[in-house]
Amino acid sequence: MATIFGKILSGEIPATRIHEDDRCIAILDIDPKAPHHILILPRKPIPRLGEAKEEDAALLGHMLLVAGKIARDKGLDESGFRLVINHGPDGGETVPHLHMHLLGGRALEWPPG
Ligand code: 5GP
Repeated sequence: MATIFGKILSGEIPATRIHEDDRCIAILDIDPKAPHHILILPRKPIPRLGEAKEEDAALLGHMLLVAGKIARDKGLDESGFRLVINHGPDGGETVPHLHMHLLGGRALEWPPG
């Protein structure tokens, strides 16, 4: 069964898309945790980072570059931003379709809660 992100990728569920290409899309998070909260999702339904394979290396690298470009486009280069990937229960993963959170627009605490 498709996850929420699978349904967003297929267009079954709407989302605000701020980037899309042949390998990934970026959408606004429905429940933002910072002034800028963007999710970068691969079109390939990899459940979580620990299940990515060697063959996914270029895709993961591409997603990092997309995140960096979005951060620049949003003017976050100077103020800073954070990229997060949650894996499993302790990591706080709730949707089993790999995604990167791009958070910015406020000072983020470290260590995270
Ligand atoms: P996770 O907790 O799995 O790392 O992150 C899932 C993220 O997806 C959460 O930040 C949550 O707010 C977001 N989210 C859940 N459902 C939807 C949805 O239907 N649309 C959008 N745009 N984001 C969603």
